[in-house]
Amino acid sequence: MASKRQIFVGGVPVGGGAPVVVQTMTKTETANLSATLEQIRAVADAGADLVRVALPRDQDVLALRTIVAESPIPVIADIHFNHTLALKAIDAGAHCIRLNPGNIGGRDKVAEVAERARTAKVPMRIGVNSGSLPKHLHALERQNPVEALVAAAIEFVELMESLDFENFKVSIKSTNVPNTIAANRLLAAKIPYPLHLGITEAGTKWSGSLKSAVGLGTLLADGIGDTIRISLSTFHAEEEVKVAWEILKALGLRERGPVLIACPTCGRLQFDMDTVVNEIEHRLEAYEDAIEVAVLGCAVNGIGEASHADFGITGAKNEGLIFSQGKPLRKVPQDRLVDALFEEIDRFHERGSVEVDASEAAAGAAWLERIEQENAGDLTPEKLAALEAAAAAAAEDITAPPTLDEAASPTAGRRFSRT
Ligand code: SF4
Repeated sequence: MASKRQIFVGGVPVGGGAPVVVQTMTKTETANLSATLEQIRAVADAGADLVRVALPRDQDVLALRTIVAESPIPVIADIHFNHTLALKAIDAGAHCIRLNPGNIGGRDKVAEVAERARTAKVPMRIGVNSGSLPKHLHALERQNPVEALVAAAIEFVELMESLDFENFKVSIKSTNVPNTIAANRLLAAKIPYPLHLGITEAGTKWSGSLKSAVGLGTLLADGIGDTIRISLSTFHAEEEVKVAWEILKALGLRERGPVLIACPTCGRLQFDMDTVVNEIEHRLEAYEDAIEVAVLGCAVNGIGEASHADFGITGAKNEGLIFSQGKPLRKVPQDRLVDALFEEIDRFHERGSVEVDASEAAAGAAWLERIEQENAGDLTPEKLAALEAAAAAAAEDITAPPTLDEAASPTAGRRFSRT
């Protein structure tokens, strides 16, 4: 279940059924204003809704006022150990304060920050990391790290409630994916506050993206999680934002930009699809609408499983086909495939509809039919999958394909369009 409570970070709603919020953290020295603002603009362009900056020193807090004034998205101040910096960050206009109540110097200091935040109407993110649990939970941590994480989070929630401060979201983070999943499931059942999800120190762009997709994707598919941050070991924070969006798009939780689908290739491939897919993916970054673009490595199966795509290409040795919504548009030399695909996409954007030249479409259809006939006996992965599906349907006497039951879906009510 999505959290019941909702808070606002700047103007961005978090929790309470709001779209899952994408955030990231700058990797620059915060006091380096030009570098920090440049990175904030880059992550905002990539689709970050919120950005967090580290404030370990007074000069970073001094820079914060300018950062808040010039940032295109709300700014969260990340504070550890020093409650004075948290007070100064609130005074500097931070839209949210992230702190760990366990390392800020005791209840009185937490209370001081909470009081200042209440007055300024600034929310907080409170939470625990697996590496920084309070001492009295270390024994429990050795026996059951998941329960220890949840116990620490609940203690912090109760501390804030006892201070009459409820304008917060909560995070439980661990480097361990199964523990992160289990702890957040337990916590979501116990508290109504919005949850921030992340896998701490997830790793490089490759391994960290996969760990995050598994951990956060599992929770999000359960309907758990209101804001996410992908932690990757790269200086390019916008890469974290792109991964976050791919996870949300894959789950149908939010839409942003085109969706690329591509066959996995096999021995029938007759052109350099790796290069072509990479080029298409790169060029699609310039487009904002949620068009679906398909790349098929051969025309042996016809347009087949890509027939729902808004645009697509399928290639052969010397030539290929541009298609749209399952219908051939035109045949082009293979080295023109990518450019011709984008010509069609751009024309569609200019005119608002797909332009079909009847004779070119007929030539494309004839070409496709010839290739399908020449390879009619081939058992391609797609044909095998279709045969298996038909056999399963016959065995179960299924007459209609299954449809998604929105009401029963784990992401029911959480499908949103980014506006
Ligand atoms: S048979 Fe399928 S997987 Fe193999 S290249 Fe053709 S479209 Fe791709």
